[in-house]
Amino acid sequence: MGLPKIHQRNLEDPTRVSSLFHWRTLQRLLSWTPPHISSPLSYSSEFVDSHCHLDRLFRVSGYTGSLDGFLEQRRFVEPGFKGCITVFCDEASLSKWESQKALIESTGVHAAVGYHPKNAHNFTKDAELLIRHVLDTSNVCALGEIGLDYSGSYYRYKEKQQAVFKKLLVLAVNSNLPVVLHCRDAEPDCFKIVRQTLPRMWRIHLHCYMNDWEGAKVWFDSFPNLCVGLTNAVGLGSPGPRDVALNIPLDRLLLETDAPYFPPTPARFSIPTMAKHVAEEVAKIRGITVAEVLHKTRQNTELLYGVTFF
Ligand SMILES: [Zn+2]
Repeated sequence: MGLPKIHQRNLEDPTRVSSLFHWRTLQRLLSWTPPHISSPLSYSSEFVDSHCHLDRLFRVSGYTGSLDGFLEQRRFVEPGFKGCITVFCDEASLSKWESQKALIESTGVHAAVGYHPKNAHNFTKDAELLIRHVLDTSNVCALGEIGLDYSGSYYRYKEKQQAVFKKLLVLAVNSNLPVVLHCRDAEPDCFKIVRQTLPRMWRIHLHCYMNDWEGAKVWFDSFPNLCVGLTNAVGLGSPGPRDVALNIPLDRLLLETDAPYFPPTPARFSIPTMAKHVAEEVAKIRGITVAEVLHKTRQNTELLYGVTFF
C-alpha cells in the first residue's frame, strides 16, 4: 500500500508542458504566491507545528536536506516559527533511518516514530524490531502516529490494525513515551483500546481530530493529559473541527499542519510554518487574538512532548 492519498489538486504538476495550455493552470501560475507572504498580518508570538511529515513533504517536493534549508530555498522563512514534531510512520523511512536522521538534526525539529494504521496489514516482526531499534538509538520524543483507520477499503484489515495498535501502545508504555493517535472512522474501537491499554494520566496527542466537540469531550473526560490537534481542516470549513475550535479549553489544543496535507488555498502542499493559518482560523472562531493561540499551543506542545523549542 502506498502513502495516503493527497488531494488530487495537489498532484497536478504545473510545470508539465501540456498543463501550461490550460487557462486555469496559467491563472494559478500567475497568481500564486506563498500565502504567508501575501498575508497582511504579523504576530509577535513564537509558534510550532505539533504534527507534520517532513519525509513525505520532502519526497513530494523533490527536496533533500534540512528543514532550515527547505524553508530558505522555498521562501517560507517565518520569523516566529520555532520548530515542529515530525512523524515517521512509513516503514520505507524507518528502514533508511540513518539518512532520515539528518532531518531531525536541525534546530527545533523533534521526531515521533510509529506505524501508520493504513499500513498495519504489512506490519511484521521485522517492522516491530525496526521501531524498537530506532527508539533505542535515537532521541525520539513520542510514539506515533499509531491507531485505527477504517476508512474505505482499510476496514477489511480492522483485526490486524487492532492487534498492531495494542502492541504499539504497550511499547509506548514500556518506553515511557507519549503517543500520537490517528483515529479515522474508528473512534469507538480506538477509544476502547486506549482506555484498556494506557494509564489515565498518559500524555496523548489525538491528531487531526475530525469529530465534533461532543466527541472530543469523551476523550478529555477520560484522559486529563490528552490534547486534541486541529489542522487546516478548520480553515477549509469542516464543521466538526470548527465546533472543537470554538469549545476546546485552550490548554488542550495543539496546532498541526499534517504537512504535506491540508494546504491552505492556493498552496499545493502545506508546510510546517502554515500552522499559523490554523491559529488564525481558531482565533477568528473564538474571538481571541492569534498571538494568544500561537503562544498557548506552543506551551502545550512542549508540555505534552517533553521538549523545548528555543
Ligand atoms: Zn500525520
